[in-house]
Amino acid sequence: AAKAAGRNRFHLFDEDLRGRLDMRRDSERDLSQALAEGAPEVWFQPIRGPDGRTLAGLEALVRWHHPRHGWVPPNEIVAAAATMGLAESLLRLVLERSCAMMLDLRARGHGAVRVAMNVSPREMAQVPVDEIVLDRLRALGLPAAAFEIEITEETALDIAAVGDRLAALSGAGVRVALDDFGAGYSSLSSLRQFRTSRIKIDRALVTGLGGSDDKRGMVQAVLGLGRSLGLEVVAEGVETAEDLAALQALGCPFLQGYHLGRPMPADAILAALPASAPRAA
Ligand code: C2E
Ligand code: MG
Ligand code: MG
Ligand code: MG
Repeated sequence: AAKAAGRNRFHLFDEDLRGRLDMRRDSERDLSQALAEGAPEVWFQPIRGPDGRTLAGLEALVRWHHPRHGWVPPNEIVAAAATMGLAESLLRLVLERSCAMMLDLRARGHGAVRVAMNVSPREMAQVPVDEIVLDRLRALGLPAAAFEIEITEETALDIAAVGDRLAALSGAGVRVALDDFGAGYSSLSSLRQFRTSRIKIDRALVTGLGGSDDKRGMVQAVLGLGRSLGLEVVAEGVETAEDLAALQALGCPFLQGYHLGRPMPADAILAALPASAPRAA
C-alpha cells in the first residue's frame, strides 16, 4: 500500500510538472496571437495614503486568461514574452491601458492619482522603454509626473543600459520606484543608480509585521532610510487590519495590499472612484 501511495504521489507530481510544461509551451505559442488581438487585460490595484482610504495611485498588473489553462501568472506572461521576442508588444499593451486609465482619471477630476507600470529589468535592457513611454505620454498630452515605472533589481544585469534609460525617464519627470525592496538583491547603491524616487517594501517584510518585532524593525529602518534620502515609501502586502494599524503607528506614507483593495479591472476601479472635488473657480 505504501508503495502504491508512493507511486501515486510520484504520478501526481509528474502530472503536475507535465501540466506546467504544457502551460508554458502553450503560453509561448499563443501569446503572440493574444497580444495581436489585445486579449491580455490590465487590472489596477489601489495605492492609498496614510489614512488607508485616500487613493494616491494605481499599479497596473497584467492579466491573461488562457483559453485552456486559465489565468497565467504575470511573471510567466512576462517571461514568455521575453522568450518569444514579444517584450515590446507586451510593454506597449500595458502602457496603452495605463495611459487610457490616466486619461479616464483626468476626465473625472482625479488627475493627481499616479499610475504605475511594472517593467522587468530584462525588458528595460532589451526594449527602448524610455523612448516608447515618453513618446506615448507626449502624444496623449499626459504629464510625465503622473506616471511611474516600477523596477526590480536583478543580478547579472546590464546595469549601464538600464541606468541610462531610467535616467532619461526620470529626467523627463517620470517617477521611478524600486519594487520588492528588502527581498532579493536590493541594494542601497541602486537607489541612486536607478534614479529612484520611491521604495516599495516587499510584502515579505510587511504582511504580519504587527506580530513580528523583526519585520517591524526592518520596515521602520526602510522608513528611516526613505526620510533621510527624501524618498517616498510604499508598503506592499497590507493584508489585515493589524498590518494597517502597525504601519500607521510607524508613519508609513503609502499603503497597498488586499486589505486596502485588490487588483480590479479598469471599469471597477473607475466605478469606485469617489466623487471628484469641485474645481476651484
Ligand atoms: P509586484 O509588482 O510586486 O506586484 C504586486 C503583486 O502582489 C501583484 O501580484 C499583486 O496582485 C500582489 N498583491 C497585492 N497586494 C497583495 C497582498 O496584500 N497580499 C499578497 N499576497 N499579494 C498581494 P501579481 O499581479 O500576480 O503580479 C506579480 C508580479 O508580476 C508583480 O509583482 C510584477 O513584478 C510582475 N508583473 C505584473 N504585471 C506586470 C507587467 O505588466 N509587466 C511586468 N514586467 N511585470 C508585471
Ligand atoms: Mg510592482
Ligand atoms: Mg512588489
Ligand atoms: Mg514582485
